[in-house]
Amino acid sequence: MANIKFYKQGEMPLELHKVRVVQKLHLVPINRRLEAIEEAGFNTFRLNTKDVFLDMLTDSGVNAMSDNQVAAMFQADDAYAGSQSFFRLQKAVEDVLGKKFLLPVHQGRAAENVICRTFVKKGSVIPTNYHFTTTLAHVMENGGVIEELYHDRALVLHSDHPFKGNMDIDKLEACIQKHGAENIPFVRMEASTNLIGGQPFSIRNMMDVRGVCDKYGIMLVLDASLLGENAYLVMKREEAWKENSMADILKMMTNLADLVYFSARKLSSSRGGGICTNRRDLYMKMEALIPLFEGFLTYGGISVREIEAMAVGLYETLDETMISQSPSFIKYMVDTLDKAGVPVITPAGVLGAHIDAGTFCAHIPQCEYPAGALAAALYLVSGVRAMERGTVSSIRDENGNDVLADAELLRLAIPRRVFTLSQINYAIDRILWLYDNREMIGGLRFTYEPPVLRFFMGGLEATSDWPERLVAKFRKDFGDSL
Ligand SMILES: *Cc1c(COP(=O)(O)O)cnc(C)c1O
Repeated sequence: MANIKFYKQGEMPLELHKVRVVQKLHLVPINRRLEAIEEAGFNTFRLNTKDVFLDMLTDSGVNAMSDNQVAAMFQADDAYAGSQSFFRLQKAVEDVLGKKFLLPVHQGRAAENVICRTFVKKGSVIPTNYHFTTTLAHVMENGGVIEELYHDRALVLHSDHPFKGNMDIDKLEACIQKHGAENIPFVRMEASTNLIGGQPFSIRNMMDVRGVCDKYGIMLVLDASLLGENAYLVMKREEAWKENSMADILKMMTNLADLVYFSARKLSSSRGGGICTNRRDLYMKMEALIPLFEGFLTYGGISVREIEAMAVGLYETLDETMISQSPSFIKYMVDTLDKAGVPVITPAGVLGAHIDAGTFCAHIPQCEYPAGALAAALYLVSGVRAMERGTVSSIRDENGNDVLADAELLRLAIPRRVFTLSQINYAIDRILWLYDNREMIGGLRFTYEPPVLRFFMGGLEATSDWPERLVAKFRKDFGDSL
């Protein structure tokens, strides 16, 4: 995808695959969308996909599989124990991620459950380049806390820094000095930091982190859920690695970690997850938890068909044309919005385009959830389902007050190989209209709030009749158009 120049079209991503199976989409009228978002408690997680046109909620478990992945699913070996499908996956993990021992789990957070139960205890401190929602929940569940050691530029939303996912090495040293190495079971690096715009870290940075870990005898854990795209951006952005293959870069990154885990709902475009390592001692500490929480050691709660798709998908991670599809669509979307003056996170990262809702909806106070409100407003005017990544996705402190998020983001995920460029252009067009009418968007408040991970099932309502007024303005401008 990368190196194709057009004669007259300017810069534009080009699909290097063809579509062979399609699913019909439904764009329901705006009055139905208003009902639907009210029924969903202004929470896009709770929408029914029969009311959703372009589903940009997530890149998790919704990526398009290749013909080879689908073909492999037919050869799956249904066996409770000793399935050949598992051994094919184990070989793929060794070939692509360079780790011999594999524990299969049903998805990424299940890996976090197993790892945190094994290594985190009351008083543990987990330094990380940035947390992910489910990681934080599992660390806290086991009595630990997270220390966010992102570097200075990580939260500068509009930037040209190529590696905003880097960890700050000085902060890591200071954190170890402060808490003591004995209270730090591991340092966690997350590839393509999900919550701060899918921003990668460099190999240089990971090597420096490894150096500090070695100095203090601390284990390094890599969350590899978004590793393929991080590796691709290393190839594009890190001078020392420009001439290397995806295979070299991936191996380099995983070699630096003692323990690697991933959500196969992203990495490998299938469903499932895994924990892998070359250290038998680490493997042995976790092994017993797999039958307890997941399933027997050769399926780990994953369908054997998905295990086959995962194995093929891991090998396809080595293919630059395959891995570049989502990042190049994201770059197109981000650059187009940026040029039009819409506040977006730059440089473009992976997994999705991220709108800076704090600036987009600067008139909405953070306690009224500007990113949540923008998610609801965008759904209303387009049928596009995006995800709030701001204070709704945060937690409350011991006094019951919202812990305000570092950034209010609206994420438009671009699942791998799913959307066409005209669909991306439709989403851009509606965002531009919404930006011109942004003053009409109002705030939200909770009506129902679950105690953990509230963003998934929480219910909210509009603080005024702004949704109705926005619909009226849409009708005025677009007439009968859906
Ligand atoms: C999605 C994700 C997870 C959790 O994986 P699930 O399969 O959704 O449970 C963990 N870490 C990162 C970085 C992720 O993107």
